[in-house]
Amino acid sequence: MLLGKQGAGKGTQASRLAEHYDIHHLATGDLFRDAAAAGTPLGLEAKSYMDQGFLVPDEIVDGVVDEQLRADDRMSRGFVLDGYPRNRHQAERLDETLDGFRLDLAVDLDVPTEIVLHRIAGRRVCSNCGANYHLDNPPENDWTCDVCGGQVEQRDDDTADAVMRRLELYEMETLPVIQYYRRAGILAHVDAGAETEEVFKHLVELIESRFDPRIESR
Ligand code: AMP
Repeated sequence: MLLGKQGAGKGTQASRLAEHYDIHHLATGDLFRDAAAAGTPLGLEAKSYMDQGFLVPDEIVDGVVDEQLRADDRMSRGFVLDGYPRNRHQAERLDETLDGFRLDLAVDLDVPTEIVLHRIAGRRVCSNCGANYHLDNPPENDWTCDVCGGQVEQRDDDTADAVMRRLELYEMETLPVIQYYRRAGILAHVDAGAETEEVFKHLVELIESRFDPRIESR
């Protein structure tokens, strides 16, 4: 599980980890953005909260996560969580959903607020595949995604007002989640102010110092 402020790099690192270990990447924010783009009732409802920087209500999040985690053999094969749990209710609810399956590690991606503000202000995302770019690191051709050719644009919730609200909610709602996993004895910190590659290397070292996910049978 990756925890950390908006702009800490959870999405980027979670998708790298999922690819590296060939496991499912569950990103609730991506699920809501996809549902909103598809115009489903759930997506449109979620979008009305997201665009203002509010959390989507727990009843909606709980249903989506249950469905996702119970699909296929995700619980036995393993998964990486990104953007979930966001509050204490969700953390407790996740324990119930896992029903005896073990959470191995919760990593807090530590990064100073000045850095996340710079990252979010310049963040641009592919509207098709979700690949991340920045004004300082644009795609090769005129805001067309290098990976899939989709349109690269600013997220609707990366506006100044929504970002301030999201950071406030992070302090109020998500910091207690960090405390929750500290008490459970599975919390670790990684300095996420560094370059993407370096952070990824630290994450892999951390994971493999705890256990080898490729050989352990779970
Ligand atoms: P993210 O992509 O993780 O930054 O999430 C974008 C937005 O989706 C958040 O600001 C929330 O509005 C919503 N969201 C994502 N995950 C959750 C969650 N676990 N609980 C509530 N809202 C969420």
